[in-house]
Amino acid sequence: MGELSPRSPAEGLPFAQRPIVILGAGIIGCATARQLLLNGFAVVVVAEYLPGDQNPWYASAWAGAAWHAAAGISPEHRYIQAVTHRHLLKMAQEDPQSGVCIVDAREYLDMPPSENSSVWGKKVAANFRDLKSGEYPAEYNSGWAYDCLVTDPTLHMPYLGKQVSALGGHFIRKRVDSLQDLYTMFPESSVFINASGVGSKSLSDVQDDKCFPERGQNVFYRTEQCRRLYLRVGKEYTYIIPRPLSNGVVLGGVKQRDNLSPEPDMEIARDEIARAHRLAPEIVPANPPESSLSHIVGIRPSREGGFRLDSQQIGDRVIVSAYGFGGGGYAFSYGIADAVAKMVEEAERTNVVS
Ligand SMILES: Cc1cc2nc3c(=O)[nH]c(=O)nc-3n(C[C@H](O)[C@H](O)[C@H](O)COP(=O)(O)OP(=O)(O)OC[C@H]3O[C@@H](n4cnc5c(N)ncnc54)[C@H](O)[C@@H]3O)c2cc1C
Repeated sequence: MGELSPRSPAEGLPFAQRPIVILGAGIIGCATARQLLLNGFAVVVVAEYLPGDQNPWYASAWAGAAWHAAAGISPEHRYIQAVTHRHLLKMAQEDPQSGVCIVDAREYLDMPPSENSSVWGKKVAANFRDLKSGEYPAEYNSGWAYDCLVTDPTLHMPYLGKQVSALGGHFIRKRVDSLQDLYTMFPESSVFINASGVGSKSLSDVQDDKCFPERGQNVFYRTEQCRRLYLRVGKEYTYIIPRPLSNGVVLGGVKQRDNLSPEPDMEIARDEIARAHRLAPEIVPANPPESSLSHIVGIRPSREGGFRLDSQQIGDRVIVSAYGFGGGGYAFSYGIADAVAKMVEEAERTNVVS
């Protein structure tokens, strides 16, 4: 991967050569880097963790990661998810190395869908239909079937990192204490993107107190039966997310606010297996062999009130903030990249014409 050392200050660089600087190399930072590079910008990504790394604080290495239409979101945010779907679908159809696959989803609802439920996803996902009674277990209220896009992050992040490098982007592995550190590293740049996830809580000139770490823990169960996704919505937060290219399924889930333990909790793992077994006994046996199991622990970059996506002019710089995606960073990723690229275009337009 093309890593670069911090550069010395260069003044008076023409517009086209001033790099857009991105803090964060998770799915948000890397998808944004890719989009900006495709639009012809020079891009540098600065981050402590880079594609291929496996640290619990690097959420993008651990996601399920299913494209699921989020409930309770605004029409604008629905569209961001729809744009993401468009990009992921193209990857699933054209590029198996991306780790994106189309699987068959079964979503079971404990209660009738609320007014602002996930059902809007039928405008985006193919083959969306209500399940007929008899097609779902009698204990549930209703259910949906649709074609679901799942992304295997163990393949997707290295793939995306390679794409960014191949398009001419540069990665710098570095932990910074503030956005100011970046301004010092890149005095010639005027557009900076903060895609630092939960890092935005501690950057000294961001200190977003709405951000909080939210621990996730999943079981990976190795099985050949890995083409159907199950999701239970309502009384439980239980999912079985297939990873066809890794021959297994991810069983979850759990959300633990402010729990930072990197070690798998075996009680949670046993509970997740039991819930998954109840949801789809034909896929997950009550007692899968220990040798078929491994454990996933990752910290979601959550934020009270939802994610932040905005552009601010601060002095002669523009700071675009895109962080706080909690449990939905993959489902929003490429749509966010598209939205951020538009904000960057607007900022650079002002830089050029004003
Ligand atoms: C168990 C689990 C299951 C999940 N399942 C799903 C799912 O099914 N679908 C879905 O859409 N999402 C899912 N998610 C959520 C998804 O993983 C996240 O929303 C997404 O990865 C967030 O991406 P990000 O780029 O914002 O943050 P991250 O991936 O955390 O990346 C943050 C980046 O910022 C860098 N950084 C932060 N602070 C600094 C600093 N001070 N200096 C330098 N670098 C810094 C980090 O090094 C890293 O490169 C799941 C998450 C978990 C943990």
